[in-house]
Amino acid sequence: MDVSPESPLLTPVQFVKGVGPQRAELLAKLGLETAEDLLWFLPRDVFDLTDVQSVDRIEPDILQTVRGQVVDVDGRRISRGRTITSVLLDCDGKYVKGVWFNQSWVLKRFFNGQTVLFSGKPKRRGGRWEISHPQIQFLEDADAQETGGVLPRYGLTEGIRMFEMRRIVRNTVEEYARYVVDPLPDKFRTSLELPPLAEAVRGVHRPGSMEEYKRSRERILFDDLFEFQLGLALRRRIWKSDHRSVVMETTTKIDARIRRLFPFEFTAGQDQAIEEIVADLKSGEAMHRLLQADVGAGKTVVALYAMLVAVAAGYQTILMAPTEVLALQHWETVQQTLTHSRVERFLLTGQLTAKQRQKALEQIRTGEKQLIVGTQALIQKDVTFANLGLAVIDEQHKFGVAQRARFSSHTVSDDANDENQDDASGPTPHILVMTATPIPRSVCMTQFGDLDISTISELPPGRQTVITSRVSTSAACNKAWEFIRKQLSAGRQGYVICPRIDDEDGTDSPAGVEQMATELARGELRNYRVGLIHGRMESEEKSRIMRTFEEQQLDVLVSTTVVEVGVDIPNATLMLIQQAERFGLSQLHQLRGRIGRGTHQSYCFLFSMTESDEASQRLATLEQFSDGFRIAEADFELRGPGDVLGTRQHGKLPLKVANLVRDQTILHDARLAAFDLISTRMFDHPEFDLLRNRVIRRFGEWMRISRTG
Ligand code: ADP
Ligand code: MG
Repeated sequence: MDVSPESPLLTPVQFVKGVGPQRAELLAKLGLETAEDLLWFLPRDVFDLTDVQSVDRIEPDILQTVRGQVVDVDGRRISRGRTITSVLLDCDGKYVKGVWFNQSWVLKRFFNGQTVLFSGKPKRRGGRWEISHPQIQFLEDADAQETGGVLPRYGLTEGIRMFEMRRIVRNTVEEYARYVVDPLPDKFRTSLELPPLAEAVRGVHRPGSMEEYKRSRERILFDDLFEFQLGLALRRRIWKSDHRSVVMETTTKIDARIRRLFPFEFTAGQDQAIEEIVADLKSGEAMHRLLQADVGAGKTVVALYAMLVAVAAGYQTILMAPTEVLALQHWETVQQTLTHSRVERFLLTGQLTAKQRQKALEQIRTGEKQLIVGTQALIQKDVTFANLGLAVIDEQHKFGVAQRARFSSHTVSDDANDENQDDASGPTPHILVMTATPIPRSVCMTQFGDLDISTISELPPGRQTVITSRVSTSAACNKAWEFIRKQLSAGRQGYVICPRIDDEDGTDSPAGVEQMATELARGELRNYRVGLIHGRMESEEKSRIMRTFEEQQLDVLVSTTVVEVGVDIPNATLMLIQQAERFGLSQLHQLRGRIGRGTHQSYCFLFSMTESDEASQRLATLEQFSDGFRIAEADFELRGPGDVLGTRQHGKLPLKVANLVRDQTILHDARLAAFDLISTRMFDHPEFDLLRNRVIRRFGEWMRISRTG
C-alpha cells in the first residue's frame, strides 16, 4: 500500500480492537506490526461451508460435503490382516458413515463430539449413507459455531488461536479497510476486470462465497506480482534508453561468410535466435538478451555467430565462461570454426605468466585482438578494450536480477556505478547471457524478467535420446557394471559422477571422488584406464585431464559435477551417477547432457538406493522425459524456485504474498499487463503516480532503478 505517514493504516496492531500489548508481541512474530499488515495477512486457506449438503438431499455417487458431529469411532480387523475403520457422524439427527480400508491410523484423529466435514461420493448401504475414504476437514470449536459462508483460516503462532486470529482480522477489516487506497486508476483496473482493492481486502477475509474469495485473493496477488513486473519492465526500459550502443549492420554477404564457417546447417531454433540477436545488434539500443536452450541445442554456435557479426562490424567481442575448463572448450570450438579465418583471437585465462598477460592486455587495449575467450579474468580492472561491442556471458543462470545488475556494469566498464557509465566509457557493449539449462517459465519471468529472451528448444538433427535407468538393487548394480564394461571394451568412454562431499570448513572435499576412483580402478573397472577430476584441482591440471580423456587415453573419468557444464566429448556415451538422489532434477539433466552427443547410443545409470518418494519421483521423471524444458518445470514444481536456481546465489525475491509455483497464471497476466503499460508509455501519465512511487519504493534499490526512465 502507498500510505501517507499519518494514515490510520499505520496504526500499530496493539491498538487494533481485540489485540492489546500482549497479543501484539505474538503478532510481531508473524511479521504483523500495523493494521495494514493485518489487512494483507492472507488466509492460508478457507473452509467452504456454503455447499454443505443436508442429509435429506444427498444424491448417490456425486461429490458432496456433509457436516456433523462424531458419535462413534470404530476400528476392526477383517480377513487376513485387512482392517476397516469407520466414523459415524450425526448430521442434525441423520447419520452418515465414513469408511476407510487398511488405514487404521485415521482412528487416532477422531474423538466423539468433534465437528467435521466429510467430502466424497456417498453410497447407500444398509439403509444408511456411507462415504468411503472421504476428505476430512476438522472444524475447531469456534468454526463449529459458524453456520455457513466461507471461513478463512490463518497461519498462527503459539498463543493465538484460530478464532482469535479470525476475530482480530475481522475487526481490522471493519475499521481499516475503508482507508485502503487503490493504486490502480479505475479505468485501468476495470479493463483488467479486477475488483477495487478495498473490496478485495474485505472479500479475502470475509468472503460471502468461494467465488468472491478467489476473485479478491487474485486481486491482491496480482498487485504484488504486477508491481514486481513493473519494476522489471522499468529496469528494461532504463537499460534500453540509457544505454545507447553501437549499430552493427549485417549484410547477406556477411551472413553467408559466417555460415560457411560451420560444417552444418543451423536448426530453425538457432536461426530464430540469430534473427532476434541480429535485430538487437543493429537497433542502436544495447542488447540485453538471455539465450536459453536445452542442453546440447547449440547455443555456443549462435553466440559465435553473433561475435563474428561484431567482428565484421569492426568491434571487439568477448566470450566469458565461469570456469577454465569451459573457457578452454569454447576456445577449441572457436579455433576449429575459425581455422581458415583471419580473425585475431586470444584465450585469456588465469594461467598466463605475468609477461604473457601484459602483452595480451596491450593487444586488447589497442584493438589488435578482436575476439577474446576467457574466464572472469576478462573483467579484471586492468583489462581495457579499444572498442568492445559485444560481451557473451556463458552459464550465468545462477545469477538473479539483483546480482546481474551489478555484474553487467562490471562487464561493461570499470565503473561500478550504473549512472555514470555512458560518460565514463562511451557506448555500452551489447550483452548476451547464455544459460546452462532450460529455465522454468515463471523463473524466466522473474529472475530474468528484465531481459529479452531467445529460446532454442529443439536439438540438432540426429541427436539421440539417452537411455536412462534407475538402478536400485545390488543385483542391478552388477548388471549395470557388466554392461558398462562391455561398452568400454567396444571403444566407448564414460563418466562416473559422485556427489559433492563437504569438508568441515564447508568446501568441496576431493576425498569422496578420490576414494571412488581408487576403488573402481581396483574393482569394477580394474581392466580399464580410470582418470580423476574434481573442483579442488588446479585449473591447469583439470584442463590436462580433460584433454587426456578427449584424446581417449582414459576410458572412464571419475568426477564431481565439474563436468556438469558444457563439456562436449562425443565418444563418451556412458554415465553412471552415484547417489543420484542427492542431485536436483535440472542438475541431473545437465549432467546427462554430457553424453548422447555422438553417433553411438548413450546410456545413463542413476544409482540410487533411496526409499524417499520425492527422490524416486525425481528419478522417474528423468527416466521418462528427455525434454529439458519439461524437466525444468517438473523440478520447479517439486522444489520451488530457490532450489532450482541454487539458493545461495539467487537470494529471495521481494514478493509479499505471491508464490511463483502456485501463482503462475497470475504472474503471466501481471507480466503482460505491466510490460504493456510501460511500452505504451501509459504508465508515465500522472494518474499512475501513486503506483509508480510504490514500485520505486519497493524495488528501486533492489533492481537499481533509481530513476523512472
Ligand atoms: P549447448 O551449449 O547449447 O549445450 P553447443 O553449442 O555446445 O550446445 O553444441 C553442442 C554440439 O552440437 C556441438 O558439438 C556443436 O558443434 C553441435 N551443433 C550445434 N549446432 C548444430 C547444428 N545446427 N547441426 C549439427 N550440429 C550442431
Ligand atoms: Mg555449450
